[in-house]
Amino acid sequence: MSGRPAVRYLFVTGGVVSSLGKGLTAASIALLLGRRGYRVRLQKMDPYLNVDAGTMSPYQHGEVYVTDDGAETDLDLGNYGRFTSAKLSRSNSITTGQVYKAVIEKERAGEYLGRTVQVVPHITNEIKQRILAVANNPEVDMTIVEIGGTVGDIESVPFLEACRQLIHEFGKQNAISIHVTLVPSVTGGEIKTKPTQHAVKELQEVGIQPDALILRSAKPIDDDVRRKISLFTNVEEEGVISGYDAPTTYEVPLIYYRQKLDTFLLRKMNVESRHAELGKWQNVVQAVTNPSRKVKIAVVGKYMELHDSYKSIWEALCHGGIANNAGLEIEKVDSSRLESPDADFDAIFKDVHGILVPGGFGERGIEGMIRAARYAREHKLPYFGICLGMQIMVIEYARNVLGWQDAHSTEFNKTTTHPVVCLLEEQTRITSYGGTMRLGAYEAVTMEGSFVRKAYGSEKISERHRHRYEVSNEAREPLKEHGLIISATTPNGELVESCEWPGHPWAVGVQFHPEFKSKPTQAHPLFRDFVRASLEHAKS
Ligand code: GLN
Repeated sequence: MSGRPAVRYLFVTGGVVSSLGKGLTAASIALLLGRRGYRVRLQKMDPYLNVDAGTMSPYQHGEVYVTDDGAETDLDLGNYGRFTSAKLSRSNSITTGQVYKAVIEKERAGEYLGRTVQVVPHITNEIKQRILAVANNPEVDMTIVEIGGTVGDIESVPFLEACRQLIHEFGKQNAISIHVTLVPSVTGGEIKTKPTQHAVKELQEVGIQPDALILRSAKPIDDDVRRKISLFTNVEEEGVISGYDAPTTYEVPLIYYRQKLDTFLLRKMNVESRHAELGKWQNVVQAVTNPSRKVKIAVVGKYMELHDSYKSIWEALCHGGIANNAGLEIEKVDSSRLESPDADFDAIFKDVHGILVPGGFGERGIEGMIRAARYAREHKLPYFGICLGMQIMVIEYARNVLGWQDAHSTEFNKTTTHPVVCLLEEQTRITSYGGTMRLGAYEAVTMEGSFVRKAYGSEKISERHRHRYEVSNEAREPLKEHGLIISATTPNGELVESCEWPGHPWAVGVQFHPEFKSKPTQAHPLFRDFVRASLEHAKS
């Protein structure tokens, strides 16, 4: 390829082990470059064969993050969204499955004109095209491409080869490599550099010389060790960065900044180093690490063992805390626990100032959530129901206020005589799995005087969805007659978007996922108000 690309490419890879926080590294670098006035895009390459994360269990892979255009993506996109203002869409999340699917479809359509279709160049070209499609935009100065998995995995080979080719084509100044590795310490605290040495060698073997290394470790790595690593990896000492554990992930960009990682990268790319505007971000870290008061929220869900399953929920709650100068203490309650006949609710929710029921699929733990909602309603505890959590609110109300004993969602009980949450007529005809899902951003209108209207301060809102079932329109009138407030609907009034309990200090259920749009520098208004209501409950 000739000519200098206007856009700079930064490839983020990982070595030694997975889950080192490559996504956080990519997001932190994007934040630092963004605060220097550069327009940065982020892209995640996932080397698995699933076409998207939509069909993956939250237990295996953590939360499914949804973009405005309805892509079901890896949770790293959530980090990108929280750390930067970069636009995120379907094109920012690439999987092996998508790439192969596209190539095979082209082959079937005869587009390869009879040639043998191969991993190199056809798969690698498809990957490169997808990277270039995001970067080739007059609004982009730099693009950060994160390669999931670990260098050395069979799965990531085509992605690394595509990166190697791009670095070769664009030249070192325009395309650089950042490798995240582990520097473990053994008993006695001795630091081990060998795994990093091997990890870098492995990257070099595929033809990529890293420009910068992020050394993940529990404690800061001292300069002698950094120097030693620099020596045996051919990475300049300035580019060997200690990425030690921080009390909050929001501190990670500041840790890099203090070690001048961003100025180093800009120098490598021959780009002017502008002033970095980090004041707001420093305030975020200050607020998280030194809150002036505390509030305790119980989250009653079903995927409690894996923290990442509700990643954006934890983050959005934290943002609600930041907006209210409060630190959050989270009580994770596995909803199945609440199903036992001798579950002591008063003991479980003792000192709890608000209850949140997040989204979910499948029957396990549903009765426990319904009981938690009842407890919140009867004890006038602030309640926030998200997606499934809103449907739970409706089922509970139908059962215990309207007296419809068997009220349920047809997701969990197909033969209930009171299907208050159900598939819509037109949905039941769609058979292909996933085809019935309402995905991505939809507009809604909020009702005057409601908690949602107060939170947003506007009538029209747009939020992201990921669900299949809806509040039944037949049940809507009886529910309203008994006091349930339908506080937002789709603009045509056909679908319920949110509901509230009457005479409650604060109780909102929403059919959408506000957690995906919350940022540490700007808490989502519903999370802000939920935490505020919980703080007020704590005071009373
Ligand atoms: N299982 C419910 C539905 O499909 C809720 C989905 C969710 O919480 N994301 O409608």
